[in-house]
Amino acid sequence: MKNRLFFCLLFLTCAVSAAQIVKQPIPDRLVVLTFDDAPASQYSVVAPLLKEYGFNATFFVCEFPPNYRDSSLYMNWRQIKALDTMGFEIANHTRTHANVSKLKKEGFDAELSYIEHVCDSLNIEKPKNFAYPGYGLDPKSLSFLQDRNYVFARAGGSRPYNPIIDHPYLIPSWATDENNEGEILEALTKAKNGKITILTLHGVPDIEHPWVNTPPELFKSYLEYLSINNYTVIALRDLEQYINAKEAKKKIAPDFDKPLKN
Ligand SMILES: [Zn+2]
Repeated sequence: MKNRLFFCLLFLTCAVSAAQIVKQPIPDRLVVLTFDDAPASQYSVVAPLLKEYGFNATFFVCEFPPNYRDSSLYMNWRQIKALDTMGFEIANHTRTHANVSKLKKEGFDAELSYIEHVCDSLNIEKPKNFAYPGYGLDPKSLSFLQDRNYVFARAGGSRPYNPIIDHPYLIPSWATDENNEGEILEALTKAKNGKITILTLHGVPDIEHPWVNTPPELFKSYLEYLSINNYTVIALRDLEQYINAKEAKKKIAPDFDKPLKN
């Protein structure tokens, strides 16, 4: 009897806690598209196709070190501003694509501030979401993000995001490449029962990073699939309509044992 009461209370506590984290029911077939590293094809290929399908997305931008082989392969800030004007989300991927697990607080702050300042100077909405470059992260990264009031931070891990159990600074995602179409289509079927599928894409195509290349025809076939099957395709910031990130940070302990790298 005592045991039953204990489990009843536990169930009730969990239910109340879930209700505080989830603001409104998360619909099935909810997908977040995210694009990393600012390759030029995100401006020339990705943005026009997303507009054609009426989908939103988040672009995690960075500049990389200045000695990168060919700067014309990356978006310039005028193009990044154009994405913002088109209604897409511009978010922070550090200035130099830094492995933030190796940074002290000042270093992390400088990496974030640089992107925030350039956005400010171009009248781009202040970035409030973050993606870990190279999926490098550790517990102190979370407190640095909290100090600067970031809302969500995206990692890897190849599993769906469950807002009731995943900490908002450890949001999992699947990364696309030219060989994992089957895995990505399977990933999209997992967007149900309160879980959200988040995809990480790089260049479409990605010339400098062939291991994360997504050919334009394959990308178009994903958009077609999402459209035909009535998926809701949003930017990461739009998750705030469904999830109270502040409450989730209070209630969910960060779990570094779950997969977070792709
Ligand atoms: Zn990156």
